[in-house]
Amino acid sequence: MRIILIGPPASGKGTQAKVLCDRFAVPQVSTGDMLRAAKAAGTALGLKAAAFMQAGQLVPDEVVIGLIDERLGQGDASKGFVLDGFPRTVPQAEALGRLLDGRGLKLDHVIQIDVPRALLVERAVLRRTDKRTGQIYHLKYNPPPPEADLEHRADDREETVLARLDTYENMTAALLPHYEALGLLRKVDGVGKPSEITDRLLAVLGNIG
Ligand code: ADP
Repeated sequence: MRIILIGPPASGKGTQAKVLCDRFAVPQVSTGDMLRAAKAAGTALGLKAAAFMQAGQLVPDEVVIGLIDERLGQGDASKGFVLDGFPRTVPQAEALGRLLDGRGLKLDHVIQIDVPRALLVERAVLRRTDKRTGQIYHLKYNPPPPEADLEHRADDREETVLARLDTYENMTAALLPHYEALGLLRKVDGVGKPSEITDRLLAVLGNIG
């Protein structure tokens, strides 16, 4: 199972990617998580990336393509993967195509999670992550348990979220016609409870019940 999830910031890609990965026993490959880990580790790459992330801009293509090349070469990715947050530009999608071709692999599905812009700002601003488990919560719609050790992503402040939404519309939305032309694109309504969105995704993947 090789899947790409595409959607604007806070559309639920990360939440759904985790569920699909458990279900299909494949790794979640999230460039956002990889970049945040590199920043936390204080590597040169992480510090360079953090400046772009903080501004709501994309990290340069060659940086994320390098990360993905290395990650897909690791053994667990041979069973499949859910890509969450990559590709985000047409050159990234083309590079991914070449990386997969070189390994004799094909994508199975590219799924766009569709959420109106008006809902996304509140979702991001009230999003919190448990530092220990990586579990994602929302203070209003999916409140964390009292014992959670919460953090708020540095790029989830309102002005950065607005910049990220613009970046999505200006850069990442161009991926949709790219994958449509390849006959791979499916669209899922991302408004509703997380479990409802999971059911819609599984229906698209032909694996419900
Ligand atoms: P979200 O999808 O909610 O915006 P992510 O965790 O996927 O969150 O990404 C956070 C930030 O990391 C992005 O705003 C961007 O700066 C950087 N980033 C992640 N993936 C990529 C990518 N494929 N290309 C360029 N920048 C990326």
